[in-house]
Amino acid sequence: MTGPIRVRFAPSPTGPLHIGGLRTALYNYLFAKKNAGTFILRIEDTDQSRLVPGSEQYIKEALHWCGLIPDEGPNQGGSYGPYRQSERSSLYEHYVHQLILSGHAYYAFDTPEEIEAMRQREIAEGNKGPKYDQSTRKTMRNSLTLGPETAEQLVADGKPYTVRMLVPASREITFMDEIRGSVRIHSKELDDKVILKTDGLPTYHLANVVDDHLMKISHVIRGEEWLPSTAHHVLLYEAFGWADIMPTFAHLPLILKPSGKGKLSKRDGQKFGFPVFPLAWHDTGDPFEGFDSFGFNPDAVVNFLAFLGWNPGTEQEIFSMDELVQAFDIQQISKAGARFDYDKARWYNGQYIQAESDESLANHVLPFLKGKRDEDLSLYISEVVKLLKPRIQTYREFPIEGHYFFNDVESYNGKMLRKKWKEPNRTHFLTLISKLTEVTEADFQAEKLKSVVHTYIEEYELSFGNVLPLLRIALCGDTKGPDLFDIMEVLGKKTVSSRFQKSPVVFDGISD
Ligand code: GLU
Repeated sequence: MTGPIRVRFAPSPTGPLHIGGLRTALYNYLFAKKNAGTFILRIEDTDQSRLVPGSEQYIKEALHWCGLIPDEGPNQGGSYGPYRQSERSSLYEHYVHQLILSGHAYYAFDTPEEIEAMRQREIAEGNKGPKYDQSTRKTMRNSLTLGPETAEQLVADGKPYTVRMLVPASREITFMDEIRGSVRIHSKELDDKVILKTDGLPTYHLANVVDDHLMKISHVIRGEEWLPSTAHHVLLYEAFGWADIMPTFAHLPLILKPSGKGKLSKRDGQKFGFPVFPLAWHDTGDPFEGFDSFGFNPDAVVNFLAFLGWNPGTEQEIFSMDELVQAFDIQQISKAGARFDYDKARWYNGQYIQAESDESLANHVLPFLKGKRDEDLSLYISEVVKLLKPRIQTYREFPIEGHYFFNDVESYNGKMLRKKWKEPNRTHFLTLISKLTEVTEADFQAEKLKSVVHTYIEEYELSFGNVLPLLRIALCGDTKGPDLFDIMEVLGKKTVSSRFQKSPVVFDGISD
C-alpha cells in the first residue's frame, strides 16, 4: 500500500489495558512518528456484552501517562471519525448487505442450541474440531440451505439471525507479514465467521476491516493472537474489492511469563508480585496495581517495553522517546516471544532515577508519603532523595528504604547491636553522642560531625568498625544506608539529639 503512513491502536474497552496492549500502542506510535505518519486511537466496542465501565478512560489515561498521544481519536477528533465503533453502527450495515448481495456472506438462523447439537453430532462422527464451516454449513438453517426467498421472509418476519462470511472452498490464502514473512492458511481451516450479530452490531472482524479501509490505515500492527484472523480479513478485503489497497500486516510477538513458558497473563502480576498494567485499576472487579503505583517513571516503562520484542542492534539500552522514534525499525522486531523480566524493568527505572534531578525525584516520591505533603517536606525530600537515589529502583522504595527519614525508629537490628555493643565502650558511646549533640545548629553539617567522631576515635584509639555501626543503629535502626554523617545532617540536630538520647536505654533492653 502506498500513500501516507496511518496506523491505529484499536483496543476493546474490556478492562484495564495490559502492558502487552501498551507495547502494541507504543510500536504503532514509534512507527508512525518515524515515518511522519498518523497515530490513531480507535475504540473497538461493538461487543457490548464485554464492555467494562471505566476502561476506555483507563486506556486514554495510560496512553497519556506514557506520552503516546493520538493524532486522531475519540478525544482528538479527525477527518475519519467517529473513532468509537459503537458510534459507527449504521455505517457497517451497508457493507454487510454488499457482501450478502455479492454472495460472500449469508443469513444464518440457527439458535445456540442448534449449533451445539451440530458440534455434538460432528464429534460423535469423529470430527475433532467441529466448526460452522464449509463441511457443516449445509446441515444448518441458513440462506444457503433454505433458499434466498425463505431467508428474506424470515428476516422480514423479525426472526433473529446472524450474518456469516461464506469462506470459499479450497483456497490457499497467502499474505505478507512484516515480521513473519509470507503466511499461508488454507481456507478449509477457517470457519464461516459471524460478521453481524443478532443484536444488529458487527463483530470485530467486519468492523475492523471496514474501519481500517475507511480510515485509510496503511499498516496494521497488532498482537500475534490476531494472526489466524488475518486470513478472514484478507478474504473480506478481497470480497469488498479492496485487495490491492489492503494494509500491510505486522504481528507482534507475545510477551511471555518470566519463566519463558506461556503468555504473560493478568493474574501473573498478583502471582509474582509485579505490575502487568501501566496504571493501577480500581474501577470494576478485582483491583490491580500498576507500574505507576509500584513507583515507576513512565519514561522508564516506555524504554523497557520498547525492548520487549525489539532491539536496535547496538549496545545502547537507554533511549528517550525521541531516540526510540529515530531508532525504531519494524524489521528488527523479533518473531520469538519476549520474556517479561521484572528485574530488567527495575534496572531501567533505577537508571532513570539516577538521571533525575533531586527536585523532580522529590515530586515523584511525594505521593508515596501518605498525607505528609507540604512545602517544607518537599525541600526535605529533595535532600533525602539525593542521598538515597543510588540505592533505589522505584519511587515507592524511598519511604521504605529511608523510613528513618520520615518516622521515628521503632525497631533496631538486635543481632548487629549485640555484635557491636561492648560494655566497656559504654562510656565512649555516651561521651561521643553528647559531643555530637553539643554541635550547634549552625555547624550541624556532615563535615563537622565527621571530624568530631574521627577526632574522638583517634584520640582514644577506638575502632571505626565498632563505633560507627552503633551510631547508625541509634539513628536508623540498622547498619546499612548512605553516609552516616550525611544522614545526620539531613535529619537535623533536633532529631539526631532525640534519637541519641533514647538510644542507651533502648540498647540496654536489646543488648543483654
Ligand atoms: N480490538 C482488538 C483488540 O482488542 C484489536 C485487534 C486489532 O488491532 O486488529 O485487540
